Amino acid sequence: MEDVIIIGGGLSGASLLFACQQQGLSALMVEDNVVGGGGATAHSRGMVRVYDPQPELADYASAGLRFWRDFGADHPELYTPIGLAYFLAPENIEQARRFVERQDNADHGMRLVPAAEIADRCPALHPDYTRDGRMAIWEPQAGHINPRIAARALTDRAQSLGASAIEGVRVRRIRQQSDHLRVETGFGGIRARRVIVATGAAPHLLDQPEAVRTRSIVLSSFSSKSADHPNLCLIDEAQGCYLRPGQTGHFYVGGAKPAESATPEDLAVDPDQAMRQNTGFRKTLLGSDAYDPISVHVGHDGYTEDFLPILRTPSDSAAGAFCGFSGRGAKYIPALAQQMVSGWMERGAL
Ligand SMILES: Cc1cc2nc3c(=O)[nH]c(=O)nc-3n(C[C@H](O)[C@H](O)[C@H](O)COP(=O)(O)OP(=O)(O)OC[C@H]3O[C@@H](n4cnc5c(N)ncnc54)[C@H](O)[C@@H]3O)c2cc1C
Repeated sequence: MEDVIIIGGGLSGASLLFACQQQGLSALMVEDNVVGGGGATAHSRGMVRVYDPQPELADYASAGLRFWRDFGADHPELYTPIGLAYFLAPENIEQARRFVERQDNADHGMRLVPAAEIADRCPALHPDYTRDGRMAIWEPQAGHINPRIAARALTDRAQSLGASAIEGVRVRRIRQQSDHLRVETGFGGIRARRVIVATGAAPHLLDQPEAVRTRSIVLSSFSSKSADHPNLCLIDEAQGCYLRPGQTGHFYVGGAKPAESATPEDLAVDPDQAMRQNTGFRKTLLGSDAYDPISVHVGHDGYTEDFLPILRTPSDSAAGAFCGFSGRGAKYIPALAQQMVSGWMERGAL
């Protein structure tokens, strides 16, 4: 019998598998698709940064960035620390200044800077950003990870230490037996002392599936072959849009207000409308008009009302939950997985 079965092999499941293995637990992860390929993780562009207007998430993000830096040292294709500029809405500059002053910046170097400093670093930036005293948080160590490669790398590392992962297996049900849980797959079952549900926007295995909501996140990709390639991650808080550079002359832009629902099926996206909206955001962020549209990318992310992951932990329920925090999870999922698993161990819940 396994100590823990983790259902779902996205970034959350893979991080939990790695964290369980590090704690010496026997752990098995079961994924319906391929690791990193079945949900939000496959579509995410993985921008990672520390600053977050929700302070408790910023604490997790700081630990998350350290995790990516350390883990990414062995996987150069995983973490690209190209720097990130977060242009502040004018009414939030003072709050952000206090946030930056409170941070332990020894290894991160976060600073509040005039937007003109970002323009010097990023020639493709729209010149409007240098006007009207705009300010930005500059995070030189931030950038992006590849969430799909990260999920694979975390799983491989956990497996090399003795954990197991099976792909192409859909879990149908979790049954409470007298002294263990039975994870049913349609052709039998697997026994475990504890089960963690990490199925993102597909929460039906949970005791309270209605507590997980779903958002569609829509990005557009553009070619930058004929104009300056944006070389930093950019976020504009006032306009609610962002840009994530790719590595081969293309980049991604997003920002449309996410559509929300209880199920992914209700979240159909009109690709033409999405491209029009993201083209508008691209024009806000970049000075040139000579970029060509490539495609629209849609992913569904699960989240809880307060964006924090715990619905019910394995100490008081058959199944804990660990979902994706709506478009921000790549930053802190691995660090949070480690904190959660070690917390459960201390409380004797695993
Ligand atoms: C388009 C997009 C852009 C994003 N950009 C960013 C970003 O820039 N920065 C950032 O920090 N975050 C970003 N995110 C968020 C972040 O990537 C996600 O929060 C994270 O990847 C979610 O991982 P997850 O493992 O919780 O969920 P998923 O990746 O959805 O994984 C759930 C897995 O469970 C499996 N599964 C479901 N049901 C079953 C079952 N019954 N049996 C077995 N397996 C099952 C699925 O196949 C799937 O693989 C973005 C997300 C999206 C969609």
